[in-house]
Amino acid sequence: MSERPFDLAIVGAGIVGLAHALAAARLGKRVVVIDRDAQANGASVRNFGFVTVTGQARGEVWRRARRSARVWAEIAGPAGIEVVQRGLTMVARRTEAKAVLEAFLETEMAEGCAWRDAGDLGDRLPVQGEVLGALTSSVDLRVESRTAIPRLAAWLEAAHGVTFLRGVAVRGVETGRLETSVGAVSAETVVVCPGDDLVTLFPDAFAQAEVTRCKLQMLRLAAPGWRLPGPVMSDLGLVRYLGYAALPQATALRARLEAEQPSHLEHGVHLIVAQSADGSLVVGDSHHYGATPDPFARDDVDALILDEFAKVFGQAPPPVLERWTGTYASAVGHSLIEAPMPRVRLVTVTSGTGASTAFGLAEDVIAGLYGLPRQGAAA
Ligand SMILES: Cc1cc2nc3c(=O)[nH]c(=O)nc-3n(C[C@H](O)[C@H](O)[C@H](O)COP(=O)(O)OP(=O)(O)OC[C@H]3O[C@@H](n4cnc5c(N)ncnc54)[C@H](O)[C@@H]3O)c2cc1C
Repeated sequence: MSERPFDLAIVGAGIVGLAHALAAARLGKRVVVIDRDAQANGASVRNFGFVTVTGQARGEVWRRARRSARVWAEIAGPAGIEVVQRGLTMVARRTEAKAVLEAFLETEMAEGCAWRDAGDLGDRLPVQGEVLGALTSSVDLRVESRTAIPRLAAWLEAAHGVTFLRGVAVRGVETGRLETSVGAVSAETVVVCPGDDLVTLFPDAFAQAEVTRCKLQMLRLAAPGWRLPGPVMSDLGLVRYLGYAALPQATALRARLEAEQPSHLEHGVHLIVAQSADGSLVVGDSHHYGATPDPFARDDVDALILDEFAKVFGQAPPPVLERWTGTYASAVGHSLIEAPMPRVRLVTVTSGTGASTAFGLAEDVIAGLYGLPRQGAAA
């Protein structure tokens, strides 16, 4: 272990930990990132890699998402990360969904967004089922998380001199010092980004904030023979994503969905269809909550996701190539940021939006720790 103390030690090499490493390295800090896994294996590599700005909760979350999308775009080239898709096609299948999108277009969050009728959507949605039209955006982007996260870590190590300790579990944290499975590490400042491990470090803070865990089912489908320039979502997403769901017009849509798709709502199913460079589709997802969600992917839940796929695209889904589940920390509010001890921060995204918001969030936390103005404030 290093004799000289690090300026900053980060627990967790998911996107939240890596985002803090970037923000601190950009300030010239000497950073170590410690993770118990040999390579990234948590939510950060199981997600869609969809950096969603449009539809994030109004105010600070939306600001952090805008800032994060800019950082992804900035670092993608230098870090060798491909931006695989750009924009979003938010389909409306019902008049109530169209009303939500029309109301959204009147808000300040509609930057880069427009409404397009179904007949004018060919370049965004080459095959269509029951679709009235869609909100299209230009501000969102998508990376392939399975490769993007390892590349981001490798670039932080090579270009920013960040040290990584892999296969090392952190058992305890106090100001200036971490107890790990390979001995003590000294660091002036510590940021703990443990994702949905709510019991190893600072369990009281998680319990007090009533943080639980959410399990999601995901699928990869064979290339369908058409291309989506940006990820596609539909009506079910409009009652989940708070930028839309908090608008008064969402009440009527929710009532209609409760009547027409009660099983989808019961299992927290909504549709995101993203496309990889090889043409295959990453499709999800569902939401089931609990302290220790079971690890099993239910076929009837996958069927609900694929049912919505068929309605939007007007064709049967291509064959399933892969299925997996992922979990993330979940609570009311976007994130938990605690200061359990001097110069120690506990940071977890509790809204399933870490790929979209981590860079903006981390800049805020690092600015707070080093007494700087919040960099994202004007973004
Ligand atoms: C299926 C799925 C789809 C999603 N889709 C999207 C999406 O498209 N867009 C979006 O914005 N968000 C999405 N999310 C949410 C997003 O993936 C998460 O918010 C984000 O990845 C959380 O990042 P993290 O770094 O906190 O957690 P993780 O990626 O889980 O990383 C935490 C790390 O901490 C390590 N760790 C924990 N405790 C210790 C310890 N004591 N010692 C050492 N190491 C420790 C773990 O080993 C782990 O590597 C999705 C999530 C899932 C599960």
